[in-house]
Amino acid sequence: MTEVADQLTEERSGEVTRISHWIDGERVEGTSGRNGPVYNPALGVQTGEVDFASVEEVDAAVQAAKRASESWRSFSLSRRTELFFRIRELVHDHAEDIARLLTLEHGKVLSDAKGEVARGLEVIEFCCGIPELLKGGYSEQASTGIDVYSIRQPLGVVAGITPFNFPAMVPMWMWAPAIACGNTFVLKPSEKDPSASVYTAELLKEAGLPDGVFNVVHGDKVAVDAVLQHPEIAAVSFVGSTPIARYVYETATAHGKRVQALGGAKNHMIVLPDADIDMAADAAVSAGYGSAGERCMAVSMLVAVGHAGDDLVAAIQERLPRVKVGDGMNPDSEMGPLVTREHRDKVASYIERGREEGAKVVTDGRESAPDGGGFFLGVTLLDEVTPEMDVYKDEIFGPVLGITRVETYEEAVRLVNENPYGNGVALFTRDGGVARQFQFDVKAGMVGVNVPIPVPVAYYSFGGWKSSLFGDLHIYGPEGIQFYTRGKVVTSRWPDPATSKVDLGFPQTR
Ligand code: NAD
Repeated sequence: MTEVADQLTEERSGEVTRISHWIDGERVEGTSGRNGPVYNPALGVQTGEVDFASVEEVDAAVQAAKRASESWRSFSLSRRTELFFRIRELVHDHAEDIARLLTLEHGKVLSDAKGEVARGLEVIEFCCGIPELLKGGYSEQASTGIDVYSIRQPLGVVAGITPFNFPAMVPMWMWAPAIACGNTFVLKPSEKDPSASVYTAELLKEAGLPDGVFNVVHGDKVAVDAVLQHPEIAAVSFVGSTPIARYVYETATAHGKRVQALGGAKNHMIVLPDADIDMAADAAVSAGYGSAGERCMAVSMLVAVGHAGDDLVAAIQERLPRVKVGDGMNPDSEMGPLVTREHRDKVASYIERGREEGAKVVTDGRESAPDGGGFFLGVTLLDEVTPEMDVYKDEIFGPVLGITRVETYEEAVRLVNENPYGNGVALFTRDGGVARQFQFDVKAGMVGVNVPIPVPVAYYSFGGWKSSLFGDLHIYGPEGIQFYTRGKVVTSRWPDPATSKVDLGFPQTR
């Protein structure tokens, strides 16, 4: 059962591990002849080779999910609950193994990887309450002798397509509520760090999930397009960059599917002059550089209002030399490498671009990256960034934090509201009245007040506004349950000879 973790750990002695699909309760080696490399980003060496699915292989996974669908949707709620408690225990007991896989393939430090698993586990725990979550309404005597009630039923086969930056948690946001609601699931994880998904599949089987209810197909655009166009898939959840989210939304809805597609972000943190500057600086460093800035909720732009600017820059600058960058398996490291060499180089190129555009490079991460073959970049701070610069407009998705300065609260809010993204936003202030006004004014889906990364707890739902979300429903929490089910209303009358007669008029309720 720990085969995947063992193999990947053993790889450190040199061998490249093959990572295969999981279809109908077992590992299935790909036959398309196409595959992709998986790296250990801290070492800069290839550790795995992941099979890329063909259209036929995606179809095999969908057919397995379809075969499992009828009996799974009939599984009683109490049995589903019991199973989810077992899944919860197994994921909890193997959290360390999953976290190690994340660190070895993504690069994030082990403590952060454990945090990712813990937040995903909360979604599984939420799903343990599925009987309560699926309760409908009941109206007795809606008309004489007639009762009306609502039920929610699963959609059938549903699919999830996930990004590299949360290889365990984001899939949990999808498969846990989807399966708890009675659907069967096909996951297409990121090809950059695919092992956690196969490991999860093994855990689900051990917990007793019937074969075919959870399937994993790896791959690139070929696999994604096969999912988006497959006639047996009823709904698609996607998390990734905005251009692909838009493409997924447009393609899958054109093929008649329900879609929630979460995209990229440019998250602002506004610091008002009355804020606790030390608290704001700690928060900015944590939220800007945690997971090397590869979080969709990372703070990437600080907006300093009035005289907050100079103090904030000084407080952050003072903290940066203490950020320990290194191999995520080393317990002393606070920030790991970026996911690939190409991504590291792209992020590094933004530092030069910022300088050329007129930003002030206060701290240059290229000068503090650890030596060796890993995909490392140190922390970068850019001051005097303005909205027309690429370093402001683009989602850099790395350890590059920008600061822009404005004179008033109104200017700061306008910057956020005019930004095409609307994922997370944070306000740092001591003024409760301003904070309350901010939550009313701001156009973003997740708002933090003196909280830099306001990822909602599992019993609320996660999602942005504007180009950060295509579709109507946010992910996990109550909206996740709504997404993975459809409603049905039953109007019922039991035979009562005393009230039976022919009546061709439109049914009346009074
Ligand atoms: P990505 O869009 O490159 O990839 C996401 C998924 O789409 C992967 O499974 C990938 O294989 C697939 N894909 C990539 N290119 C494709 C193409 N041309 N056609 C079809 N499928 C394709 O994203 P990523 O680099 O893996 O992840 C980082 C991005 O995800 C960032 O933009 C980040 O903000 C975003 N993200 C958003 C959220 C959120 O909740 N809004 C959460 C995590 C990550």
